[in-house]
Amino acid sequence: MTERIVEALGTGADAATVVHMLAASADAAQNLCIDRPYACAAGCPHCCVLNVAVLLPEAMTIALWLRERLCAEELAGLQKRLATHRSWARWMDDDERILKQMSCPLLDPYGGCSVHPVRPLACRAITSLDSQSCKDAFRPTVTDEDRLVPADLFRKAVFDAAFTAVASGLRQVGLDDRSIELGTGVLAFLEHPEFMERFLAGERLPQALWL
Ligand code: SF4
Repeated sequence: MTERIVEALGTGADAATVVHMLAASADAAQNLCIDRPYACAAGCPHCCVLNVAVLLPEAMTIALWLRERLCAEELAGLQKRLATHRSWARWMDDDERILKQMSCPLLDPYGGCSVHPVRPLACRAITSLDSQSCKDAFRPTVTDEDRLVPADLFRKAVFDAAFTAVASGLRQVGLDDRSIELGTGVLAFLEHPEFMERFLAGERLPQALWL
């Protein structure tokens, strides 16, 4: 997969090429997982409280997708929610986020993913085989008990491999291959549209985003 990504990006990537490369990578991973069972469904948002790491082109793609669909007022409201979430959750580990129920700011009011068609590879990697286990595991209580969720580990391995292949492709063509917290990355590209050009030109984005 890395070779195809290098080939796609190698001739000088523009935003559309990056978006297409990511979609193709996600589709290729999904094709390996066709017909595998899972219990996840829209309106079942329990795991959307976990920290998510994305590659910069993933954050850029989500920001572009939102810009195309939201009006100015909606975008301003979302940016405010992303900034608030960043200030509260940036140092929280998964257990703290579960306890405080700090859900992903991209979750819609009905428990669905508002960016589902362009959701991160890390989100696609996680599927539960039992929704009741998820409910129990993500309940905001302090416990020493192991709260395990039966998951499709094959799917996780496939999407993790896609993530690594994209990162490797970015590195090989001289683009920034660092990952970033989902909300922080999306907010950065929404607040600073010029970051897209800078990323595509091979510049590294400001280190402050990772602090
Ligand atoms: S991006 Fe979507 S799927 Fe991923 S954590 Fe946020 S709401 Fe859930």
